[in-house]
Amino acid sequence: MKHKFLGYQCSLCKAEYEADEIIYTCPNDGGNLDIVYDYSSLKQNVSADTIINSPEASLWRYLPLLPVNEVHGRETPLQAAGWTPNFSPPALREQLGLQSLWVKDESRNPTASFKDRASAVVVARAQEIGAEVVVTASTGNAGAALAGMAAAAGQKAVIFAPRTAPPAKIAQLLIYGADVLLVDGNYDQAFDLSILAANEFGWYCRNTGYNPFTLEGKKTAALEIWECLINRKLIDGPLAIFVSVGDGNIISSLHKGFKDLQALGWLDGMPRIFGVQAEGSAAIANAFSIGVEEITPVAADTLADSISVDLPRDGVRAVRAASQTGGAYLTVSDAEILVAIADLGQAGIFAEPAGAAAYAGLHKALKQAIIGSEDPVLVFNTGSGLKDVNAAMQSVAPAIIIEPTLRAVEQALDLAG
Ligand SMILES: *Cc1c(COP(=O)(O)O)cnc(C)c1O
Ligand SMILES: [Zn+2]
Repeated sequence: MKHKFLGYQCSLCKAEYEADEIIYTCPNDGGNLDIVYDYSSLKQNVSADTIINSPEASLWRYLPLLPVNEVHGRETPLQAAGWTPNFSPPALREQLGLQSLWVKDESRNPTASFKDRASAVVVARAQEIGAEVVVTASTGNAGAALAGMAAAAGQKAVIFAPRTAPPAKIAQLLIYGADVLLVDGNYDQAFDLSILAANEFGWYCRNTGYNPFTLEGKKTAALEIWECLINRKLIDGPLAIFVSVGDGNIISSLHKGFKDLQALGWLDGMPRIFGVQAEGSAAIANAFSIGVEEITPVAADTLADSISVDLPRDGVRAVRAASQTGGAYLTVSDAEILVAIADLGQAGIFAEPAGAAAYAGLHKALKQAIIGSEDPVLVFNTGSGLKDVNAAMQSVAPAIIIEPTLRAVEQALDLAG
């Protein structure tokens, strides 16, 4: 097989592996593998202008910088992954007192979360290696994304999720036709079981922080920030990026995307990357705050199910994404997340709890003067509020129920004068 990448390098022991030698993590120490490119050959063969002039309105515009060849089924929802809008809502700029604020809305992906970026690229990889079945463990979104992208590509998917996953996410899994196994346990138990099953039955495993291709798909978000905002000079000064963190794969992927761009000579400087965790699921933030890379598991407890993780599977690279870019980690309470859902809603953006956590973290960073009013900021909404309507309802007052009369309308809306 002809590969578009040189091989893999372990993020812990730095051991290098050939492209055909390995599939998931480092055999020495279980470390996450980085995919290694031949940047000098990429520099010769790919120009920034070719990408900038691409008509492709999806993450596939970055195919030259991805470790996969062509994906089959591009005329399906696979072609809608990525290339999400960057909003600059005046209401939020005003509320936060920021001059330059961008919201990158990942709820606009085909299955309504950031995870489509990873799943689209993993499905392309599965096609290349001729995998018959693709499996993942998921708190819900990674599974929905794999089920949706696999359905689009005509690929068979098996999903392990905790039985407590929000019903909308379980509905997505079922509707996309995956084999759905709801584990009577938490995400971490579903994770371990899915790997056992993948090994036993010969399935190709997408698991976050395990399969090196997820990070490569997710890095396209960094490429978009570069292309749409930094390169178009819509941002004045070093950008601060806020993103919510569970396993730590998204934040690591943003770091990798910007490092790729630097290696190509297309990006000067490095955005500061800020990770936001729920107070009740803060294993990576804990490590960052005591200045270590080693991750100690917690007993996760937060209403933000997508970032509820005992042992983050990409913790080391996630710590580095903040420490090596001049960023930091913040933690937010469930109550602060609920407020953030309502705040984003006021600007027309509907986030699930994990999606809104980043905005809550930005709020806190401003209060603590980690960010100043002149710093340009981009905050991610990583998932749609429709995925967890129960949580959304906790962030607002209930709707008013009235008799079907004009008088009742007057009274309810206090219009009587
Ligand atoms: C998965 C997910 C995250 C966190 O991504 P990690 O790679 O696990 O850190 C944040 N928000 C949403 C909506 C997600 O689905
Ligand atoms: Zn290693």
